[in-house]
Amino acid sequence: MAREVKIIEDKASPIKKEWEEYARKGNWTVKGYEIVRAPSGPGRLEESKDADYMVIYRPHGVLYNHSYGLVSRFFKGLIDRKLFGTKCPECGTVYCPPRVHCWNPACRVAETKWIELPLKGKVHTFSVMLFSADAFLEMLPFVLGYVQIEGADTALPIQIVTAPTDVFVGQKVRIKFRDKRNGDLMDIYGVPVKGQAAPTDSCLHRQAKNVEDLNRDLEGTYAYLNKRFGIKKQDVQSRWKKR
Ligand SMILES: [Zn+2]
Repeated sequence: MAREVKIIEDKASPIKKEWEEYARKGNWTVKGYEIVRAPSGPGRLEESKDADYMVIYRPHGVLYNHSYGLVSRFFKGLIDRKLFGTKCPECGTVYCPPRVHCWNPACRVAETKWIELPLKGKVHTFSVMLFSADAFLEMLPFVLGYVQIEGADTALPIQIVTAPTDVFVGQKVRIKFRDKRNGDLMDIYGVPVKGQAAPTDSCLHRQAKNVEDLNRDLEGTYAYLNKRFGIKKQDVQSRWKKR
């Protein structure tokens, strides 16, 4: 039976062809190595002994296709602008991100049922990313939040589009879909509901120094973005206003 692949965007195929040829010719070979002296052994760093480690530099690349398995509905839902979770019929736990089987030991891996969830939640915890993997560098600096979707018992890691100095635990967010969606977690992001003030015990806001420190660190990221990509600070900051 012929299978139909729905192409969203294909930038990889030409590169893949090149890489396959490159690999076939045996070019993924070691470029060089260095010997690095660094701590070894269990226990505290101060008590450890140093050892020599050989670090090799071997370029490699991977292009692969994979299946979302039984949680496919969640990712297809993102493409269709819907947010799905799963619910255990035994204990009622709601999972988002979804789990196919309940992990409550009492439920003995009961199979969960799909449910649609509302496009809102609150920040359970967060990290401010001042540096990242290559694919996200131009998005810096950004907030990665673990958002508990309303009605769910678990938290979903997504980008929160907000000034990094404004985010706080418990912040209510709305879930938005990007115009271009690929069926992965970057298809969605959170934006804070307007008119909320950070609580006095907010980890970032309980001391003015914390925000000052973050602002200082953000300056380093702005300088990097400008040097590396020519991105201006005001352009970065304007992203947080556009929603
Ligand atoms: Zn259960």
